[in-house]
Amino acid sequence: MEPLALHGGRPVRSTLLPYAHQSVSEEDIAAVNAVLRSDWWTTGPKVAEFEQAFAAVTQAKEAVAVSNGTAALHVALYGAGIRAGDEVIVTPMTFAATANAAVFLGAKPVFADCDAETLLLDPRTVEARITSKTKAIIAVDYAGQPCDYAALRAIAQKHNLILVSDACHALGGTSEGKPVGSLADISTFSFHPVKPLATGEGGMVTTNDARFAERMRRFRNHCMTTDHRERQEKGSWFYEVTDLGYNYRLTDIQCALGLSQLKRVPVWTKRRQEIAKQYDVALQTMAGAKPLQVRKNVEHAYHLYVIQLELERLSADRNEIFRALRSENIGVNVHYVPVHLHPYYRQTFGTKPGLCPVAERAYERIISLPMFAAMNNGDISDVEQALKKVLAHYAAKK
Ligand SMILES: *Cc1c(COP(=O)(O)O)cnc(C)c1O
Repeated sequence: MEPLALHGGRPVRSTLLPYAHQSVSEEDIAAVNAVLRSDWWTTGPKVAEFEQAFAAVTQAKEAVAVSNGTAALHVALYGAGIRAGDEVIVTPMTFAATANAAVFLGAKPVFADCDAETLLLDPRTVEARITSKTKAIIAVDYAGQPCDYAALRAIAQKHNLILVSDACHALGGTSEGKPVGSLADISTFSFHPVKPLATGEGGMVTTNDARFAERMRRFRNHCMTTDHRERQEKGSWFYEVTDLGYNYRLTDIQCALGLSQLKRVPVWTKRRQEIAKQYDVALQTMAGAKPLQVRKNVEHAYHLYVIQLELERLSADRNEIFRALRSENIGVNVHYVPVHLHPYYRQTFGTKPGLCPVAERAYERIISLPMFAAMNNGDISDVEQALKKVLAHYAAKK
């Protein structure tokens, strides 16, 4: 057997394959250049154009462009009327920003747990966390797979809660034939370069509720009654600040890039689904790791391809297998440290191990494999070869 690169052997690849990477075309570059030559670098016409195109793709009535995915979550919860003293139920298996959004508004994040096979928010654990203070649920389409929105909507309706979808992974996905972005009361997206559409930094919120959208538009611009362009067009200087808001605007430069990228989302989604299928097939021939389960009636957007290690069948833990794969120059990653285990949450909200046992157990086993549309077949085969080599090395001797 070939020695592991971790132990001084030859790595499967000579250069590191990242876990995610943006794609850019000449058309993207031309779109950005055109805005640079125009009068409006921000609050200009490209913002509404991007919002309308995004709303059309996600079949939502309204889309509000914001400066990043974290801002999108903050804006979404403000739009929904969340305030100090409220409780918001969140999944622990996410990026900290999902829970932080509640904290930004003085609300308390309350952690439910996820399903062991999909790592999506488990609706069965949500109801037990509802109190008289609960106002909203934030579900995360983890890895790009839409959650069980039928079950979550039923719980939200029964308890009069607002259902927010953190869809930062899931642009391009569908559930029961409906696109992500139209599956909850409010949905949020990120356009960070690792995500399914990239504008450098960027984000979007979608909703069918015009009142939510109106509040969100104000909040992203200091809760001012007019923006720069409206004042310029009216030849007026006057505005009023009606509440505490932020500068969460997305520039026209970024919106032009987003508009150009949006056209390629279907092709990219399809490519990632193909890569996932190849990984699925390869994993069937390997002992010690398995893919996450995919729910019925969904189109998975595969922002991430996450494997769960079967530690009982391996002689090493996740950290060692992670290091071994990195040494083979495979840019694996781990998504995520369960949010309630971060020191800030432990110190501020008294959360601790044992609160979300399913997420905590999964955290010890998960590894994200490289997954992005621009990967070529050689890259895919390198990942498979490295995984095979590493898992075979650590196959537990009976
Ligand atoms: C990326 C991401 C965010 C935050 O988005 P930014 O654009 O980085 O602020 C929030 N939630 C999830 C699930 C994410 O993946």
